[in-house]
Amino acid sequence: MSARAMVVEDEAALASLVAQYLERVGFEVSVTGDGIAAVAMSRSVDPDVVVLDLGLPGLDGVEVCRQLRTFSDAYVVMLTARADEVDTLVGLSVGADDYMTKPFSPRELTARIQARMRRPRSGFTGAGASEQSRVFGDLAIDVPGREVMVAGKSIHLTRTEFDILTALSSSPGTVYSRALLIDTVWGPQWVGDDHMVDVHIGHLRRKLGDDAARGRYVRTVRGVGYRMGTGE
Ligand code: CA
Repeated sequence: MSARAMVVEDEAALASLVAQYLERVGFEVSVTGDGIAAVAMSRSVDPDVVVLDLGLPGLDGVEVCRQLRTFSDAYVVMLTARADEVDTLVGLSVGADDYMTKPFSPRELTARIQARMRRPRSGFTGAGASEQSRVFGDLAIDVPGREVMVAGKSIHLTRTEFDILTALSSSPGTVYSRALLIDTVWGPQWVGDDHMVDVHIGHLRRKLGDDAARGRYVRTVRGVGYRMGTGE
């Protein structure tokens, strides 16, 4: 079964250009130019990847992303018209995984998406059987099943949040700098703001019931980055 992508963009020429690029690398692509239609379409298509324009008729990209995040862990790349919008969006915690500012190269967009999709769903380290289930206090991570439980309760993480947790937990003694996390989770081709990492870590902690001060599961190593906590 091929991976599914959705392109949500009201500039029809740009939408079909991006769709063509994604089709060429093997995605099954659905396109819409309307925010309300995008939410409905994402429920039926269940996309792996969503390229989402910020400025849309119906619902804007921020609201589409928020609604999408209630039921989907698709990889969301948001398209913005101005570079300074990205900071605002990162601050708003809309749940996008990546941002590109127009005008952008559809080739680069496609390369980034491919790099991200190539990351195996079963983790990054070629984990053996003993590595597949990881436990840190009340936190249990089923790596191949991409499931996370805290105190027996299932927690819904986005793809990026899960991948960050998988990376940190694969080597609990290692301190991950933001650059190393970006390399591990997004791939070395990714160019963007390091602070994206902090935003995703913030969401991850909130969902795990962790907090920055205690860092039971995700510990801040001041001036360096993050490492896995013991759950204590
Ligand atoms: Ca637009």
